Parts: sequence; C-alpha cells; structure tokens
Amino acid sequence: MPRDQAAAFLRALAGANPAPETELLYRDPFTLLVAVVLSAQATDAAVNRCTPALFAAAPTPAAMAALGAEGIGPHIRRIGLWQGKARNVAALAQQLMEQHGGEVPRDRAALEALPGVGRKTANVVLNVAFGEATMAVDTHIFRLGNRTGLAPGKTPREVEDMLVRRCPPELLRDAHHWLILHGRYVCKARAPECWRCVAATQCNYRDKVPAPPR
Ligand code: SF4
Repeated sequence: MPRDQAAAFLRALAGANPAPETELLYRDPFTLLVAVVLSAQATDAAVNRCTPALFAAAPTPAAMAALGAEGIGPHIRRIGLWQGKARNVAALAQQLMEQHGGEVPRDRAALEALPGVGRKTANVVLNVAFGEATMAVDTHIFRLGNRTGLAPGKTPREVEDMLVRRCPPELLRDAHHWLILHGRYVCKARAPECWRCVAATQCNYRDKVPAPPR
C-alpha cells in the first residue's frame, strides 16, 4: 500500500475517534506496566476486573514487591496464565526497586529486561505512559496489517517496521490505538464488518463483507 493510501486509511480512523486512549485502567506508569503485563493473552476487560483491587492493595513497586507472588495471585486468578504473571509482576516490582529507584524506566532496553516484558509491552508503556511514537503490534494489529495491505509481514516485528515506515510521523502515536480498537471492534478476526468500516475505501482487502440481511 502506498504511503499516501496508508495515511488516508489512518486519517479515516482518526476522523471517527480523534482522541483514542487505551482501554486498560491505570493510574501511573507503574500500574500501566503491570496492567499490560497482565493483559498478555487476556482481554483488557478481564484485566480491568482485577486491577482496581490489586492496585488498591499495592499501588507502588515497593508495595507490589512486598505483596509478592503469593499475595498478587489471589487478585488475578480470573486472568489467563495468572500464576506466571503473579511471579513476573512480583519480580519486576523488585527489579524496579533494586535497579531503577522504584521508577519505571523510559528506556526500551531497560523495560525489556524486566520479567514478563517483551517488545510489545515496552512499546505500549513508551507510547501511553511517556508519549513516544511507538507501534505495539498485538494480534489485532498483526491481522489488520496483513488483511488490509496496510502493513503486510510474517512476524509482528515486520508489521511494526512497515507501519512505522508507512505511517505519517504525526499520526504514529495514536495509530497504535486506532488500529487496536479497529481490529477489536470492526475488523474482527472471524468476520470483518466491512459494511460499517470508515476505512473501507482505503482498504485493499478483496472479500469485503457486506451488511447482513435484516
Ligand atoms: S474494509 Fe473490512 S477488511 Fe478492510 S479495514 Fe475495514 S473491516 Fe477491515
């Protein structure tokens, strides 16, 4: 897809949602980091049902480290992979205390060195907490990039790099949210709802889905 078509695609999404935000509940960079770690292979809604009580019990890295995996676990049992996530959240809180003065580092390498934090999580934290123009490729963006022709790629990293190349710099930070929300609610995995898609004109998907019969 040419860059001007990619820009038009994103501007169509922007027109429908000028100020997009993450759907995860958080208070500050630390609680955002924990929420994103918990959201791996889980829905934001499932994470949001658990985190208010967890963050009330442990609002800081010091409190979270003190709570430990045994104390974190009961708060997050309804989230998939909760045992491993409880261990990771306790360990990352401890690492923040020992290596970063209890602060979330604004640095990709330091973020990716934390337990349970990969490139996607680091990209979300850099984007949402620190305002950086990063592109976190989750399952929705990976599918959407390939389906629409916006950013074809065999791996999340290939899709990320293509999106960064094709997206106008001034749209890049919000593009992360536009694409996730579009994939979650319109360009869905099983059947995209092309008949109500604001970017249908710019999309290269050949088998656009018509409106269901009434
Ligand atoms: S037209 Fe269909 S396939 Fe293309 S972006 Fe919209 S919902 Fe997705």
